Amino acid sequence: MGVLSTGRPLTWNEIVPYRSILKNHALNDLITILNKHRHRTNDAFLWGDEIEYSLLRFDHKTKRVQLLLKADEILSKFNQLDSNELSSIMFHAEDCNFVIEGIPSIPYGSFFFHYNRVESNMKLRREQVEKFLDKNEYILTISAFPRLGCNRCTYPEYESDPEHSFEHSICCSDHYKTPNYPRTMFLNQNVVERRQSKVSVNVPILKDTNTSNPFRDDFSSYGVSNWKDYVNNNLQDNYIHLDSSSIGWGCCCLQVTLQAQSFDESLHLYDQLIPLTSIFLSLSTSCPIWRGYLSNVDSRWNILSSTTDDRTNEEIEKNLLNSSRYSSVPCYLSDSSDIYNDTNLNIDQEVYQILIQNNCPSTVAKHFAHLFLRDPLYVTDEQVHPKDNPSNRFAFENQNSMVWNSLRFKPPVSEDSASLGWRIEFRPMELQITDFENAALSVFLTLLTRAILSYNIDLRMPISLVNENMERAQMKNNIQTNKFHFPTQIFHDRNCKKHETREMSMDEIINGSTNFIGLKSLVVNYLNSFEDIDTSTRQTMDNYLHFISQRANGTILTNAMWIREYVKNHPLYKHDSIVNEQIQYDLIWLIQQIANQKQSLPNTQPSYNKL
Ligand code: ADP
Ligand code: MG
Ligand code: MG
Ligand code: MG
Repeated sequence: MGVLSTGRPLTWNEIVPYRSILKNHALNDLITILNKHRHRTNDAFLWGDEIEYSLLRFDHKTKRVQLLLKADEILSKFNQLDSNELSSIMFHAEDCNFVIEGIPSIPYGSFFFHYNRVESNMKLRREQVEKFLDKNEYILTISAFPRLGCNRCTYPEYESDPEHSFEHSICCSDHYKTPNYPRTMFLNQNVVERRQSKVSVNVPILKDTNTSNPFRDDFSSYGVSNWKDYVNNNLQDNYIHLDSSSIGWGCCCLQVTLQAQSFDESLHLYDQLIPLTSIFLSLSTSCPIWRGYLSNVDSRWNILSSTTDDRTNEEIEKNLLNSSRYSSVPCYLSDSSDIYNDTNLNIDQEVYQILIQNNCPSTVAKHFAHLFLRDPLYVTDEQVHPKDNPSNRFAFENQNSMVWNSLRFKPPVSEDSASLGWRIEFRPMELQITDFENAALSVFLTLLTRAILSYNIDLRMPISLVNENMERAQMKNNIQTNKFHFPTQIFHDRNCKKHETREMSMDEIINGSTNFIGLKSLVVNYLNSFEDIDTSTRQTMDNYLHFISQRANGTILTNAMWIREYVKNHPLYKHDSIVNEQIQYDLIWLIQQIANQKQSLPNTQPSYNKL
C-alpha cells in the first residue's frame, strides 16, 4: 500500500503551504522516470495478486463473531521469522487492524505452471497467519464484515467516542485503526480536514416485507446525545448511514498487478483493461450487508469511494474535481484511444504543459495532469525537505499511490532500473469466500490479457459507458438483472475508427452468443494454441474457466447474492432487513467452513462441491 516514509507526519494545515512544492517534487520525479524508462523494452511478463485478509474471532457460547484487532501483532511476529519461512509470501499492514494484506513475494511469470501455484500460494498465506492465531480466531476472505460499524463489532471491544475521535465517528472507534502506522491516521484525518466535514455516506436499504416504512436508521444505542443534530441532519429515510473511514478501508479486495514489456505496451494494456473493470466487479460482487442491514447494493465500490472523498462542497458543486480520488478510471492513455475519452476531464494545465514540453505523449500527459489535481494527504516533514533525505525520489510514487482508481498505472520507480517495469494494477474486484474463486478470477483476468495481446483484441468503448457499467455492476443481483455496454466487434480492424457497442448480458459477454465470441472462448483458444501445457495445469485452468462461465450465466450465484439469500432463509431473520448478531455468527461460521472446505455451499453453487 504505497510508500512508507520516515519523519513526522504533517497535519492538513501544515501541508497546505507546501502543496505546490510537493507537487513540483512529484512532477520532477515523474519526468525523471519518463526520461529514464520510456524506451526500456523487453521487460518480462510478470504478475501477482494482492489479497486483503480479515481477522475474526468467534465466541461460540454467546454466538457472536467479531473483527479481531491483531494485525499489528501478527506483522511484528512475521518480522521475527527467519526469511526461509516466508520465502514465497509477504504481508503488509492495512488501514484497519483487523485486516492484513498478503501477496506472493516473488511475482509469477509467463510459464503456464505458475498459474497452478496461485491458489496454493493464497492458501499458504492463510496457513501462515493461522499459526499466530489463538483458538477461535480465524483468517477469512470476506470483502465487508456484515456488522462493521455496529456497537462492539471488534475484539477487544471499544465503544465509539465521537467527541474524541479524529473523524468524530459515531459508528467506529479510532481503535480500529492499525497502531504505529501513522500513514493511516494522518491520511484519514487529513481527508476530513481537507473536505471540512465528517465522512457521511447513505446506502439504500433493501425493503423487505417487515421493514419499517419509511425505514429510519437508528443510532439510539450509540449514546449520541451530543450528536442529535448531526444524526437528524444526515440520516435519510430508507438509507443506512455510515460515518467512518474504517467502514470504507475496512473493506477488503482482490487486486492483480501485471507488468508490460514496454511503455507502449503498458498504455495499450491499460486501455484494454478499462472496459473489463466493471465486468470483473460485477462477477465478484460480495457486499450486500452494511452496518447490520441488508442493502440494495451488492458492492463496496461507491461506499469506499465516498468514505475516502476529500473534496470540499465547493469543489463538488462547481465541478472543479468531478470525482472522488477513489473512483473509476478517469481516461484512456494511448493517443489513439483519446476518441473514447468522452467525459469532461479536469486537469492541471500547468502540469500538462510541462509534461508536453518534456516529450510526454499528450493523452498520457492528460492522465497525469488529472492525477496532479489531487493534493498530497500524507506527508512527513522529511518529504518537505528532500535535499536532506533521499526518500524524495519516491515523491511521484507518493502522489500516485494515494489516488485509488479502478486501474492504477504504475511506472517504474525513478532510481530502480532493474526490477520494476511499467505495470498496471487491476483494482475493482471484491474478495471471494474461497481461494478457488479468488484464484479463478485472478488467473482468468491474467490469461485474458495474454489473449488480448496475442489476438490483437480491441475492447475499447467510450469512458462514459464504462462509468455507466460500473454503476450497473454494483446494483442488487446485477448479473441476473442488468445488461452491460460492450463492443460488438472486438477483433482489431484498422479501417474501423471507433467501435460500436450494444448492451449485452454477462452471459453473452463471457460465454458468447451467435453474434459474439465471448471472453471465455478467447482464453480457451489461446490455451489451445499451446501444446505443452501440463495436464494438471490445464485441468486447473479448465476448472477456473468453468466456474467463471457458470458465474456469468447465473448458475453459480455471486457471493453477494448468495449471502443475501442465506440471510433471507435464516430462521431468525424477521424479514425486517436486520442482520442480527446470531445471523451474522451463523453466516460467517458457514463461510469459515466453506473456506476451509469442511462444508460446501448449498445446491445453488454446484461447483463448490468439488472444491
Ligand atoms: P501495491 O500495494 O503498491 O499495489 P504490492 O507490493 O502490495 O503493491 O503488490 C504488488 C503485487 O505485484 C504482488 O502480487 C507482487 O507479487 C506483484 N509484483 C511484484 N513485482 C512485480 C513486477 N515487476 N511486475 C508485476 N507484478 C509484480
Ligand atoms: Mg495494491
Ligand atoms: Mg491493500
Ligand atoms: Mg499492496
